[in-house]
Amino acid sequence: ASARQAHRVIDGGRDSQGNAIVVLGEGTGIVHIAPGCGDVDHVIGKAQGLPQIAPLDEAANFVEGFGFLTGRNATDRALVDEILASLREKGLLVASETYPHVYPHCWRSGDELVFRMVDEWYIAMDWREEILRTVDDIRWFPPSGRDREVEWLTNMRDWMISKKRYWGLALPIWVCEACDTFDVIGGREELRARAVEGWEAFEGHSPHRPWIDAVKIACPACGGRMSRIPDVGNPWLDAGIVPYSTMGWNTDRADWERWFPADLVLESLPGQYRNWFYALLAMSAMMTGRAPFKNLVGHALVRDEHGEEMHKSKGNAIWFDDAAEQAGADCMRWLYVRQDPVVNLNFGYGPLKEVRGKFINTLWNTYAFFVNYARLEGFVPGERVTPFAARPDFDRWILTELQRTVTRCRAAFEGFQMRQAALAIEEFVERLSNWYVRHSRARFWKTGESAAGPAAFETLFECLETLIRLMAPLTPFLTEAIYQNLVRSVDSGAPVSVHLLDYPEPDPGKIDDALAADMEAIIRLNSLALSAREARKIKVRQPLATLTIGPKDDAERRAAERFREMLREDLNVKTVEITAPGTPSPVSRTVRANFKTLGKRLGPRMKAAAAAIEAEAVRLAAEIEAGADEFRVEAGGEAISLERVDLRLEIAQPPELAVAENAGTWAAFDTRLTDDLRLEGTMRDLLRRLQMMRKEIGLEIEDRIRLRWAGDSPVLTRLFEVWGRHLAQELLCLSLERAESLDAPPAVAITLDGAGLRVEMSKGH
Ligand SMILES: [Zn+2]
Repeated sequence: ASARQAHRVIDGGRDSQGNAIVVLGEGTGIVHIAPGCGDVDHVIGKAQGLPQIAPLDEAANFVEGFGFLTGRNATDRALVDEILASLREKGLLVASETYPHVYPHCWRSGDELVFRMVDEWYIAMDWREEILRTVDDIRWFPPSGRDREVEWLTNMRDWMISKKRYWGLALPIWVCEACDTFDVIGGREELRARAVEGWEAFEGHSPHRPWIDAVKIACPACGGRMSRIPDVGNPWLDAGIVPYSTMGWNTDRADWERWFPADLVLESLPGQYRNWFYALLAMSAMMTGRAPFKNLVGHALVRDEHGEEMHKSKGNAIWFDDAAEQAGADCMRWLYVRQDPVVNLNFGYGPLKEVRGKFINTLWNTYAFFVNYARLEGFVPGERVTPFAARPDFDRWILTELQRTVTRCRAAFEGFQMRQAALAIEEFVERLSNWYVRHSRARFWKTGESAAGPAAFETLFECLETLIRLMAPLTPFLTEAIYQNLVRSVDSGAPVSVHLLDYPEPDPGKIDDALAADMEAIIRLNSLALSAREARKIKVRQPLATLTIGPKDDAERRAAERFREMLREDLNVKTVEITAPGTPSPVSRTVRANFKTLGKRLGPRMKAAAAAIEAEAVRLAAEIEAGADEFRVEAGGEAISLERVDLRLEIAQPPELAVAENAGTWAAFDTRLTDDLRLEGTMRDLLRRLQMMRKEIGLEIEDRIRLRWAGDSPVLTRLFEVWGRHLAQELLCLSLERAESLDAPPAVAITLDGAGLRVEMSKGH
């Protein structure tokens, strides 16, 4: 390029975001282009045909040919004045000033860095199709990962593999000192065969600098001497060849074949599609044309509780040892395992506490419940086995759920979807605790008196024993502790550790699908009815007279009838009524015309349209609730199109009812309270307080007590008259008496529905 070509003013253009590359506000608004000293300059310089001058060596010193600058360092402050002086001397300096300019620094030393133009080595990627062909032999989690990889493989440029470093993988590229021909050496034997000098210096060393550089080979083109290039390889070359280098490709091909391809790659997602995953795929496509692994599970990052990056300096970092000490290592494991791996994990003591409260404690309490009652009732696992078909409905249901959980866990582990296993287990534990145990409590007490008792122990034992085997890979310590007590303490012949047992296999002989479907419907109905209570803020402890259930179909009706008694007990009502499927709910819906919007549009046709809307209210209401935004009615033989704003939906339910609806099913409580219902509600509040008191004063579940109360409220007098026997039974009272007064501790005051009483509880003998 001539001086005239090089010295001209051009438009700097815009970057990929559309921002001007040259910004006003720095200096004159005109910048020089140095194509050898920066990426943007390089691209513009190339497009403009400017000469590409690389003035600096590796230490940022000016090379030969730069006059007084040669040998000086580019970051030397004194150079600034010397350059200004030189320009002034030549009469080229217009003005000088100081202004801020962002420039990179070394993250480690803080030293100023400069851009240099250097030659690098690339692998041409015109064979990318061969890599793309292997992508679909891999199962990608998340599945969108496959598309991200394909996008990268389709659009990537040639692969830059060299690095200007000393330590690292020595690139096996030799260049002729005479004619610049280059050659890539395929292995140690090839190098030995072609070496013309330096082999003795290299022999016995690993193929790294400095030893490898001693070896020279002959140029196949001109016969000159070829030396290895000084560059080392990008670390992804090393990481990408692992499925071959580490697995013995070079030493034992048959053994390598046994292990290849790997089952699993598990790695944090951001960036890896274009780094490690890419390197693995490219290397393997080149070596064998095969995918190097079968499954890829990617995960997002760990952040602090509030989603911020953890930093020691920010004070929000949590050390593993501290968290394990405070929250328990298995609690941490569960937090990780149940996390959706594509979403960042917000780690902290809050989330750990939640995992402990919602899951670990529920499991532990269920296990403790079993152990307590098994001890009291003298249950010995395996002593007798009630056949599945002979067990009560509820046992067959929870065992069916157990088998389904086994199936789900196996599928989850086989598909490398640990979260799915964790969620299946959480769901099962919730049902075991909140449904099975809660409804079966009475069966674990005084089992000698009830035929269903022993089956309850057998069933709960089977659930817990299977559960810890299901969970053992996820929470190794918790399950081992339970195993030692639950199994080993009664069976010294059992394997010494839960981790020596086989993973559970589903048993098709212990599945009752019809029963499970019925219970599924009951759980649904139960939560629907509870939502009706909740909406009216009527607590479950307050008994109500009637619950009416409107099932959506025959299956739901059958289920409700089969488990009517359980619904009655759970939802605390005196009667459960079940209507025929399809009976309309007591909620009424009217749809009216919005005169404000329609009046303007329809004018005289307004009246007919309003009548048509009211006549079609049921259909229109359903459409509105389904989220439609366009509606049609016929008025006077004419179709009228309506928008959501043209319609007013009014929902009303009778004031004495609490109704909830969902997808065709409804549940309605009669909320009117009689004196008896009110009294029973107060009794349940009192019972709960006294049961808590039993725990607070440290009584064992089987301990009997003596209870005295004092108070003059007529409601309480009546409460003890009507419910005294019931309270005494529930609380295991040897005696329940009224006292004249109980003014001194240990008597305590309790307030119920505005009425006060004092109570004294003591362990009875
Ligand atoms: Zn040559």
